[in-house]
Order: sequence, then C-alpha cells, then structure tokens
Amino acid sequence: MTNISPPLSSQMIEKLRETFGERFQENDRLSNYTTAHIGGPADGLIVANSGQELEEVFTTLWDLNIPNYLIGSGANVLVSDSGFHGVVVINHARNIKIDVHGKKPTVWAESGSVLATVGRQAGLRGLSGLEWATTVPGTIGGAVFGNAGAFGSNTAASLVVADILHPIDGKQQWPLERLEYGYRSSWLKRNPGQVVVLSATFELTQGDKAEIQARMSDFSSRRRASQPQGASMGSTFKNPEGDYAARLLEATGLKGTRVGGAHISEKHANFFINDNNATASDYWALIQLARSRVSEVFGVSLELEIELLGDFSISSKTLSGDRK
Ligand SMILES: Cc1cc2nc3c(=O)[nH]c(=O)nc-3n(C[C@H](O)[C@H](O)[C@H](O)COP(=O)(O)OP(=O)(O)OC[C@H]3O[C@@H](n4cnc5c(N)ncnc54)[C@H](O)[C@@H]3O)c2cc1C
Repeated sequence: MTNISPPLSSQMIEKLRETFGERFQENDRLSNYTTAHIGGPADGLIVANSGQELEEVFTTLWDLNIPNYLIGSGANVLVSDSGFHGVVVINHARNIKIDVHGKKPTVWAESGSVLATVGRQAGLRGLSGLEWATTVPGTIGGAVFGNAGAFGSNTAASLVVADILHPIDGKQQWPLERLEYGYRSSWLKRNPGQVVVLSATFELTQGDKAEIQARMSDFSSRRRASQPQGASMGSTFKNPEGDYAARLLEATGLKGTRVGGAHISEKHANFFINDNNATASDYWALIQLARSRVSEVFGVSLELEIELLGDFSISSKTLSGDRK
C-alpha cells in the first residue's frame, strides 16, 4: 500500500496515548521491524502480544478511522524512507494448537506465529504438509496473505480456514475457497488493508517423523545453496508465467548492480541485498532499473512480489546503477 496521508493530528496522537498508554510508541523506525532493515518512522506503533490484543487494537483503530498497517515479520514489505503516517501494528500473537487425535490432524496457529516454528512443531509430531514452511521467513498471517510457498507447495495446499477480523462484520471464518488463492496471490493481497487474519487452521497428514525431518533438512540445504545470506525481502518480483524472474534479471546482466547501499545478489538475481545501510530509495531505484531492463530486453513486465508501504513518489536516485 502506498500511503500519502498527512501525519496524524496532535488530537489523534493524544487519543492514542490515552487509549493505549505506554504500548503506544511514537516515531519508531520501521527498519527495526523489516527483514531488509529498511523503513522510516511510523507516527505510531503498537505491538499486539495476543490474538485478543490484535483484535482490540484493530477495532479501536478502525473506530477512530486511523490509517493503519499490520506487519508480521516484515519479510515481504518495502517501507519508504519517509515511513508511514498512521499506526503500524506488529503482530506477536503466537498461540499454536496441534490436534493429532481428530479424524484429520490439524494445526491452528495465531497469525503472528512464526511460520517456520509452526512447520517444525507439526513435523515433531509426525505431521506432514508444512515442511516447506520451515525455510520461509515470516508469520502465518503473512503466509495466508500472500500464499507463501516453496519447493512445490504453498499455504493454500493445506489451509482449510482462516479466522478473519472485518471492520464492520467482526469475526468471520473464511474457508479456503473464499481466499481465492493463486501463485503468490490471494483475495487478501488483491485487497490489502481490508481485513486482518487472526489465525488459520491447516489440515495435515500423518507421516514418518524421520522422513519429515529429512525433507526439512533437504529443503534447508537446497535453500542455503541457492539463495544469498544478508538482509533482504527474498524474491523481489513474481515469476512471470512460464519463466523465472531471476533468470530474466541474470540474462540482462544485472547481477551485482548496486545503487547506494543495496545490490542485486550475485547468487540469486531476484534477491536485492541491503549490505551497507541501504535506503528505500536505493531499493526503489534498483527495482525500476531491473524492471525497465527486463522490459527492454525481453518485453516482459515484471510484477512486484513484495508489498510497498509509504510514499514512493519522490524517490529520486539515479536509474543507471553501478556494477559492484
Ligand atoms: C530471505 C527470504 C526468503 C524468502 N523466501 C520466500 C519463499 O521461498 N517463498 C515465499 O513465498 N516467500 C518468501 N519470502 C517472502 C516472505 O517470507 C513471505 O512473503 C512471508 O509470507 C511474509 O510474511 P511476513 O509475516 O513477514 O509478512 P509482512 O512482510 O509482515 O507482511 C506482508 C503483507 O502481508 C500483510 N499481512 C501480514 N500479516 C497479516 C495478517 N495477519 N492479516 C492481514 N494481512 C497481513 C501485511 O500487511 C503486508 O501487506 C522470503 C523472504 C526472505 C526475507
């Protein structure tokens, strides 16, 4: 969501201080809450430590009509240097319940649960279906939002229902079909900021614990071999139909291209790495450069996989980029 609302008024800030007390933090830098360590300040920030808090915070923000944004692990969001005018909620609602006795084994997890932890806990109980998730950064909420996936599977493959909080209709249960999943896409991603995912239930299958562990280790070593270390948001662009964004970026000779503190990884061209106090403008310039080169050379218009938060209209860095 690009956001160019005005800063919160002093009356609104006062109201938020009264309502949330010390939990309401002002002008905290969002670089502290994103895996690329990028992002300017939020007018206000609140950490929700339980599902109930998450519900209360959003109900209040909606009632007060305050611009808001939910961050899980910040593994898929590029926040502008000017930050966000509104309240950012950080989701630490992390309850997990695993039921191995029902007709079909299920895992229920609050949306702030770390995806990899949910996958590992399921694996330890001999439940198969979320092995891929142990290698993907982020929360359950982020995964449900973007249909995160890896190694041939994804969130939609085992999700049965998501508990949703809607500003007018309150709590609802959305079955899989209602989320309208596609590749790194969902109703939620196509309609950002409309509702909050409170929790999700996944149906898994009983498997052999040793085999499940072996699959997890295999996925993890394959990832280490193919993807770079360092601060990033993972893949910047979605793979276009029938091709790979990384292949197109590599073929245009963009690997290693640097703008300011960010560069396009030599190991995986779809990963843009912050290795030297990069700004969002550095990233934005690399994104524009990559998009225009791939479009010139291949006639393919790359679509962002990452979400944008804040104002990107005034980013002004050069589009030429330097080789490292
Ligand atoms: C090194 C690295 C490797 C990666 N590899 C993969 C990969 O293999 N596969 C893959 O799919 N992704 C990958 N990613 C991207 C990222 O892991 C996923 O997109 C992940 O699902 C993001 O989760 P998050 O909690 O960090 O979401 P955030 O970045 O915090 O949020 C992303 C979006 O989801 C929304 N959102 C978050 N929680 C909720 C909620 N509870 N309710 C409603 N909306 C919500 C946010 O508002 C935002 O718009 C990678 C990222 C990194 C850094």
